[in-house]
Amino acid sequence: MDLKQIMQNYFLDLDAAAKDPDRKVAWCTSVGPAEILRAMGFDVYFPENHGAMLGATRLCMETIPVANSKGYSPEICSYLTSDIGAYLKNITPLAKAYGVEDVPRPDVLVYNTNQCKDVMHWFEFYAREFDAPIFGIHSPAHLPEVEPEHIANVVAQFKQLIRSLEEITQEKFDPKKLERCLALSSGATSLWSEVLKTAIADPSPFSFFDATIFMGPIVVLRGTEIARDYYRDLLMELEQKVATTRSRENAVQKRVYWEGMPIWGRLRHLSELFKRNDTCVVASTYCNSWIFADFDPHDPLPSMALAYLQIFINRNDTYKEKYISDMVKMYSVDGVIFHAAKTCPNNSNSYYNLPGRLKRNGIPTIVIDGDLCDLRCFSDEQSTNVIEAFLETL
Ligand code: SF4
Repeated sequence: MDLKQIMQNYFLDLDAAAKDPDRKVAWCTSVGPAEILRAMGFDVYFPENHGAMLGATRLCMETIPVANSKGYSPEICSYLTSDIGAYLKNITPLAKAYGVEDVPRPDVLVYNTNQCKDVMHWFEFYAREFDAPIFGIHSPAHLPEVEPEHIANVVAQFKQLIRSLEEITQEKFDPKKLERCLALSSGATSLWSEVLKTAIADPSPFSFFDATIFMGPIVVLRGTEIARDYYRDLLMELEQKVATTRSRENAVQKRVYWEGMPIWGRLRHLSELFKRNDTCVVASTYCNSWIFADFDPHDPLPSMALAYLQIFINRNDTYKEKYISDMVKMYSVDGVIFHAAKTCPNNSNSYYNLPGRLKRNGIPTIVIDGDLCDLRCFSDEQSTNVIEAFLETL
């Protein structure tokens, strides 16, 4: 099935679930415990994905000011302000894209602070609006290493979450269903990792800008056969492409790494800018964020705790420096572009001299200012100058 159809089916089915009294919808953060929710029979909706759609369609430029006028600062997560503004204005990009008039009403909201605390405020807004139950996994944050006590802490919270969800579903949690769900998630995430690794080839069969589109199913359909099958087919297609185009003549001259959030409203502009400059953005922290190599269906809760604790965003700078250095080697990258996203300090890693430290280790870096959604924070002209000047030096 092609990607557009997969995403359309997902949103149509969510819409149907929200209208069916026998089905229940859970809202979940992007690196929240989606597998638990799915194993317990919930249909799962991810507001961050909606935020990205608001950004990509630039509808956010109409909705962010609405949230700002209600007291949500222009300084905080612009997924949050885009999304809350869209709710207050009663619009959604789902209408034009898939014919779905409203985001699905939640029966429960579950967040995980492993990425940031903005998600807590965001979900609390909706819990009040919909008068719906809300649960949070409060993860130990910014870890140098994930220790056994961190895992035990999160496992205890998962168990409490399951008990609370049982009250909503009125059904006993079935561990076998979680094992099955985690096996599917694990399969999909391994395939996603392999898909991304095909970009090691020179020329790479795709760029970061394509990957932000390919990643839809691993974000919203983890724990399903649909996601696993999509990445199995995509991997085959990309491997074939690598096999048929492998030739030095086709090789791009420069390869760069994108560190930080995408600038959703300017993806095409940036993609063309790199193309014009004979450069491919071959890898990114952002797309790698949905690789959960530690999922183990035979040890579901501890392995989920480990996987969701040790994500890049939840680690200290020593870890991040090593991680990026490893990526630079693995993907034969010539330089790293840090995106300092104004409203997401959590995913902006340029503020504590990480670019400087990489530079001292021989890795060229630059920082561009921008934002994931709010285009008032991004200048085409300024970023083009900075990026082109950087690419010339590589
Ligand atoms: S990590 Fe950044 S973009 Fe994601 S929800 Fe938090 S503040 Fe928003």
